[in-house]
Amino acid sequence: MAAAPHNPKAKPPVSVASDELPLAKPVDHVPDGSLASLREQAAECQACPLWRNATQTVFGAGNPRARVMLIGEQPGNQEDLEGKPFVGPAGKLLRSALDAAGIATRDLYVTNTVKHFKFERRGKLRIHKRASASEQAACRPWLAAELLRVQPDLIVALGAMAAQTVFGNGFRLTAERGVWHPLPGGRRGMATWHPSAILRMPVEGREQAREEFFADIEALAAAMPE
Ligand code: SF4
Repeated sequence: MAAAPHNPKAKPPVSVASDELPLAKPVDHVPDGSLASLREQAAECQACPLWRNATQTVFGAGNPRARVMLIGEQPGNQEDLEGKPFVGPAGKLLRSALDAAGIATRDLYVTNTVKHFKFERRGKLRIHKRASASEQAACRPWLAAELLRVQPDLIVALGAMAAQTVFGNGFRLTAERGVWHPLPGGRRGMATWHPSAILRMPVEGREQAREEFFADIEALAAAMPE
């Protein structure tokens, strides 16, 4: 049998035992394939119950060679309907902060910790519900695969769920927000507020959180490779 042709552009095979994986929480396997293939595979995922009531899988999007990956929590109502991350009100606030910092979305890969919308119905409304620990664990292989394919230098976790996935359960957003931390593989990571959390805050704390969020995105701009 002929040997497989060597492809010098191919990334080396990945392993979940790799200390290159910048996730503090465990991952029991990493799906194989290109980002396009992963997106197709994730569209059929039934590894936890969240696919049943959601419209579609909301996989990550953006530059597959981005040096920066933003990791949110889970899709909201609008993301579920459109099938894209950060297209709802939270996405609008995120884009405002990116614009203010001079960061082009073409330089980013944006994804979520959990890829299906979780909600409860109240009348005609679908109200966001936080994914459980087991749902987050079931979905983590998709995030791990995205990280290993994109290989970002800088990772920004938006919100506590993403921050604890990257830095561990002991991470406290209120105490450690906006601080760069070393991550496996020579990467660096930082956590900041999730824009939807800012939008849900009581008025008295909202403006301060918004200013902190904008400052953290400015710090990201300053840290981005030329
Ligand atoms: S939330 Fe994640 S693990 Fe659960 S069904 Fe959707 S893609 Fe699969």
